[in-house]
Amino acid sequence: MVTLVSTIPKIRDALRATFRSGLTRPIPWRQHQLYQLARMAQNERELICDALKKDLGKPKTEVLMAEVGGVIEGALKSAERLPEWAKTEYPDVPDWQKSWKPAIYKAPRGTVLIISPWNYPMILTFQPLMGAIAAGCTAVLKPSELVPTFSQLLDEIVPKYLDQNAYRVVNGAVPETSKLLELQWDHIFYTGNGRVARIVASAAAKHLTPLSLELGGKSPVVIDSAYDIDLAAKRILWGKCNNAGQICVAPDYILVQRDKQDELVQAFQKHIDAFFPKGALDSPLFGSIVSDLHHKRLTSLLSRTKGKVVLQGRADAARRRLEPTIVKDVADGDSLLEEEIFGPILPIVPVDSLDQAINFVNARPHPLVLYAFSDNERMKQQLVSETQSGGIVFNDTFQQLTVNELPFTGVGESGYGYQFMKHTYDTFTQLRSSIDMPKEAEAHLAMRYPPHSEEAVRTLTAAVYTPIPPSRL
Ligand code: NAD
Repeated sequence: MVTLVSTIPKIRDALRATFRSGLTRPIPWRQHQLYQLARMAQNERELICDALKKDLGKPKTEVLMAEVGGVIEGALKSAERLPEWAKTEYPDVPDWQKSWKPAIYKAPRGTVLIISPWNYPMILTFQPLMGAIAAGCTAVLKPSELVPTFSQLLDEIVPKYLDQNAYRVVNGAVPETSKLLELQWDHIFYTGNGRVARIVASAAAKHLTPLSLELGGKSPVVIDSAYDIDLAAKRILWGKCNNAGQICVAPDYILVQRDKQDELVQAFQKHIDAFFPKGALDSPLFGSIVSDLHHKRLTSLLSRTKGKVVLQGRADAARRRLEPTIVKDVADGDSLLEEEIFGPILPIVPVDSLDQAINFVNARPHPLVLYAFSDNERMKQQLVSETQSGGIVFNDTFQQLTVNELPFTGVGESGYGYQFMKHTYDTFTQLRSSIDMPKEAEAHLAMRYPPHSEEAVRTLTAAVYTPIPPSRL
């Protein structure tokens, strides 16, 4: 049910009051909420799978693996590691400052807003929430209106498991999100596209609200011609087929040496046939496109390409299905290079050298991920040092998301802010610095008070005269 706009400020105020009451402070209380989140995912998994089947045609295995499983694993691990994360830190300081007891307290940011998209609606709603719960924040969850069955389900199941005084779901579209964005929050965690991110950032600026923007973009794949082309095709295809290519880290386009292009196309053909022997159109293992609009967008991109469609996937507009489609000889300026594809279309851009591939990547906004297939360590290091992207992944696609200890982030157009486990906890935590000056320190502090003797000035300004070592350049 869509949340009444008039109730939204009251929801925020209630969450703020809960935060101030201290309910979310005790670590065991936070751990209990994290276990409840895991319980919710485990107990309600059939309803979740059904909802995502209805909204996205998402295969059950994909939902259990990447959404339900991810939430259970993340919530349990967060609960287990939380006591360690939340420990007050005592930094190493010079001897003369030790008696001041310098400390870094881990303070929850407060009442936060989490806005999530439709493509992985479960994990992208609850992954940030895990960090917010662990940090001791209260939170509003705003799931996407493009997955209405799932968002409605959250309305029903979240209150059964999580404390409603601390965590609330607000459902709706632009009017409801706009109302949320008018209010002051202590952090906004937005996952979605760059256009809406700009609306969110402008609204946040009015209140100086800190932000995480988890966005997308075109993640390229660079293939070294000496690499096993067959294996590269298989691993790229797997990453591209998840959720029918509707994932922020999907391989978006491929840069390959011109003379290896046809070998790559043949390898794609072989693996598409192996993954979907009867075609992907009716396969329960291949998802649908989220909306008619997106289906039309994808078929329009294809109809306008100047590249050669070498593997033409079948399209069924009525059921919003589109099979994997490979296009070769795609060049700068092509429709398939205009925007994030976010669907099962893979353009191949032939290049003559690694330098040309690097220049191609660097001429565009920084991607969320740069993928590269190579056994050559020099080439890998060249890509690390000569390009920029949120993450860089060698010799596989998509699988990096299972390494919870790695921070997940974008850079430039692909966003900013870090997430996954402790990184999400840190996002919702303020490092609150403290000293506690003992009375006995007065003797050492005496020289700071005016009027200053000459000796005091020399001591207080000593840093100004510190010798600077010669540079070794
Ligand atoms: P979406 O359309 O569901 O929008 C995301 C959220 O923004 C929704 O909750 C929606 O209600 C809200 N919204 C939409 N229009 C708004 C407006 N005018 N004002 C305020 N709020 C508004 O999802 P989407 O943006 O299409 O998601 C896909 C994009 O997200 C892709 O670009 C993808 O790469 C990116 N993405 C990034 C990550 C990541 O972790 N970096 C993960 C998934 C998706």
